[in-house]
Amino acid sequence: MPKMTPFDRVMTTIRGQLPDRVPVIPQITYATAQLTGLGLVEALHSAPKTAAALLAGQRELGYDAVYVGWESSFNLLAEAMGCTMRFPENDLPQVAEHVVRSPNDLDKVKMPDPHSTARLPLRMETVKLVKQKTQGRVPLFGYVPGPFTLAGQLCGVTQLMIATLRNPQFVHDLTQLATTASVAYAKAIVEAGIDVTVAADPTASASLISPQMFATFAAPALRTVLHAAETAGAVPSLHICGQTTPILEAMCSTGTCILEVDHLVDLSKAKQLVGQRVTLLGNINSTDTLLKGSPKTVTEAAKFCIHQAAAGGRFILSSGCDVPAATPLANIRAMVAAAQRYGRYD
Ligand SMILES: [Zn+2]
Repeated sequence: MPKMTPFDRVMTTIRGQLPDRVPVIPQITYATAQLTGLGLVEALHSAPKTAAALLAGQRELGYDAVYVGWESSFNLLAEAMGCTMRFPENDLPQVAEHVVRSPNDLDKVKMPDPHSTARLPLRMETVKLVKQKTQGRVPLFGYVPGPFTLAGQLCGVTQLMIATLRNPQFVHDLTQLATTASVAYAKAIVEAGIDVTVAADPTASASLISPQMFATFAAPALRTVLHAAETAGAVPSLHICGQTTPILEAMCSTGTCILEVDHLVDLSKAKQLVGQRVTLLGNINSTDTLLKGSPKTVTEAAKFCIHQAAAGGRFILSSGCDVPAATPLANIRAMVAAAQRYGRYD
């Protein structure tokens, strides 16, 4: 039988069938700057430089997909919707001033066009460049802002949290604006070549809000975004950081095909609860194991994840969250080697 391409391996898994082995996809973007000798910041304003680093990562480290990102989609959209950014010399940009400073500011929020507003076209160009080079052999994952978290970028997380108690209508209205922007962005990146849209919603984590609040404020908007992405032709995935065990069922009800779970989630428990309905993706500790650990500890952690969740398929070995910029690439190599060695189905 001919060797499976990474694309076939990942899509076979998502369909619930058994591939040749467990796919391995670290959530790595800017850490690939190490391979091209470019700093985090130098690549920030150049689609060809970003694409070159992302492609070098997949080619040289051998994992099964490319997360086409660098700066977060939250930042890109927050700026495009009217927030002021600060650009530190040695770090990724941050929101300097929120566009919404009181409930009366909702009309100050701009509705961006992904093809022309602020730095959004740069991301579209990066996706197209990576697609041209990978030609469908490797699937492309692309982050899309979870509307609840994007709302927090627009008004400040503290203000958002207070408003969930004192002014829920404001939260709904702002999240609605964020949803509209996120849907347009999702459609545009799918059109540019993204195969799997990853709605990221870190502020909706059960580490931060109750399951009841998740159901009220975050889940309906996620459902809208993921449905739009799927209609546009992509596989929907949902990424929520931190502890999400209490909301695993609710996360599934957003219609996602993939659940990206962080290291705080017990994978075997997640497998038992929702492993028949979705593909689980996770969950080696990004900081303690990938950033600070050694190839040996990474191998052990990868084996443990495989042991917990690989049986019967529907599992992708990954980091729990973003791979930090300074992560030793030897650790990523160890992770890939572990999937190749211990994740075989045949
Ligand atoms: Zn995360």
